[in-house]
Amino acid sequence: MDKFNDILGNINIRRNLQYSIKNNRVVNSYIFNGEEGLLKEETALVFAKTLLCEKNSEEPCGKCVSCKTFSENNNPDFIKINEEGSSLKVEEIREKLVSDVEIKPYSSKYKIYYINRADLMTVGAQNAILKTLEEPPKYVIILLIANDKRNFLETILSRCVTYDFKELTNDEISTYIENNYTLDSYDKEVAVGYARGYISKLDNFLGSSDEKNKRSLVQDIIERLDKEDFMSIFDIAKELENNKENIDDLLDIFISYYRDMIIVKSEIDDKYIINKDKKIFIRMLAKNVEMSEIFNNCDIIERTKRFINSNTNFKLTIENMLMELKGEKVW
Ligand SMILES: [Zn+2]
Repeated sequence: MDKFNDILGNINIRRNLQYSIKNNRVVNSYIFNGEEGLLKEETALVFAKTLLCEKNSEEPCGKCVSCKTFSENNNPDFIKINEEGSSLKVEEIREKLVSDVEIKPYSSKYKIYYINRADLMTVGAQNAILKTLEEPPKYVIILLIANDKRNFLETILSRCVTYDFKELTNDEISTYIENNYTLDSYDKEVAVGYARGYISKLDNFLGSSDEKNKRSLVQDIIERLDKEDFMSIFDIAKELENNKENIDDLLDIFISYYRDMIIVKSEIDDKYIINKDKKIFIRMLAKNVEMSEIFNNCDIIERTKRFINSNTNFKLTIENMLMELKGEKVW
């Protein structure tokens, strides 16, 4: 994706950025906000490349020295700062940005700082960057890439132009599949359903052979919860523990099955079913449960996801989830 026109989705944002370049309305600081898989990084990179391009156009030319060095990750006027582990510390911001901004651009009109996962900046780091945001040298542009802008201090938010990235439409996901994969129309339909607007979910689904195994594992667990006795919960918990590193994906797949059951029960058009290749299984399960129970199961899983992400005891959390899904209330 080397051009604005190659990127899919969020067309208003792309047009807006191009308009600002054309009309000299570029400002000093931006937030590109949205979950993984909405192409915000790609958009920010094309924006930076276009601003640095020697041709001064609304798309990067791809041929000038600046464009070429940009593609080789070697453009001296483009500085990328990455998070380390789960945070972005004040030292990193001081060293790579605060003490560097006064040095003029090497050859371009601008000097661009691209901060990946800027929402992981510690409060110290945010305060350190604030001074630059308040009085930036004219040539400086700061691109803050964030999964969740709510982590920014109000003072940061108020000094940036924020773009909120939204899910891609099914048509856009379809186009992405056509450009990147070879699939027959049935498989394509399944993949579009599974992506739910996120390129990352799509790539996971199509890219890894693991994905099919994960979906079979979840299907198997849902069936066992339905048929087997209470004691099987501990075996199932063990199995999930063995797949600990994939637990987020597995819980997402759980939710996708329950969501499909809701669609089947509501007699909404089948085209909205995510797991299209499992329709028979979903219909069979949906027959035996009340709608309220399915909604409740979705809540249980969402809550489990939050618990696991906040580092509670994995085994206990999973066992509690399974007990609740089986209908044995434990709290
Ligand atoms: Zn160029």
